Amino acid sequence: MDKKKISLTFSLLEQKWPNVKCELIHNTSFQLLLAVMLSAQTTDKSVNKVMGPILDKKKDFGPNDLKELKEEGFYPLIKTIGLAKTKAKNAVLMANIILDKFQGNVPRKDEELQSLPGVGIKTSHVVLNILYGDPLIGVDTHVYRLSQRLGWVPMSASRNQAHDVLVKILPKKYAAKANILMVNHGRYVCMARNPQCGDCVLSKVCSKEGLT
Ligand code: SF4
Repeated sequence: MDKKKISLTFSLLEQKWPNVKCELIHNTSFQLLLAVMLSAQTTDKSVNKVMGPILDKKKDFGPNDLKELKEEGFYPLIKTIGLAKTKAKNAVLMANIILDKFQGNVPRKDEELQSLPGVGIKTSHVVLNILYGDPLIGVDTHVYRLSQRLGWVPMSASRNQAHDVLVKILPKKYAAKANILMVNHGRYVCMARNPQCGDCVLSKVCSKEGLT
């Protein structure tokens, strides 16, 4: 893997997206964790549509509120998003564990976060990367697609395999921003259908794998 080319790719992405930030509505680290959990197989827009009204009503919505609502009370608030039943159940369990085991705070360690119901490697890494700039990558659909098209990850690789490749090749300098830069580029330029190769700042460094 050409390290210089990978660094150049992130430099170009940084210039393209200088003010990139997480698009999920949240005021607290707990709300970010909740929003990322809700975003599994769902767009950020759909999550914001349910989180917006919840936070309008209670700006500091936290684990105690979820505990009080219980699954029956939380489900109707998020029922428009995919897998709402499972997500409501996991969210309430997660809130209870955070209250019982972590004094109401989002755990700081990756393994602690991943021990929570509904929190897998992707969710944990995205949360820790956004909150603390930890050099972790969450391989969502955008990161997966972009890393394959760029030729960094074989088209046959699973998401877990893609993750293992990415953590090895991400330049330290960009480790804190790599995740969000790739998500943004995948979302707005390198879309699943009709990627905008003609207008893409990465055109010269991209091998456009999988595109005919
Ligand atoms: S050149 Fe095309 S395939 Fe490569 S990153 Fe840009 S939009 Fe995606």
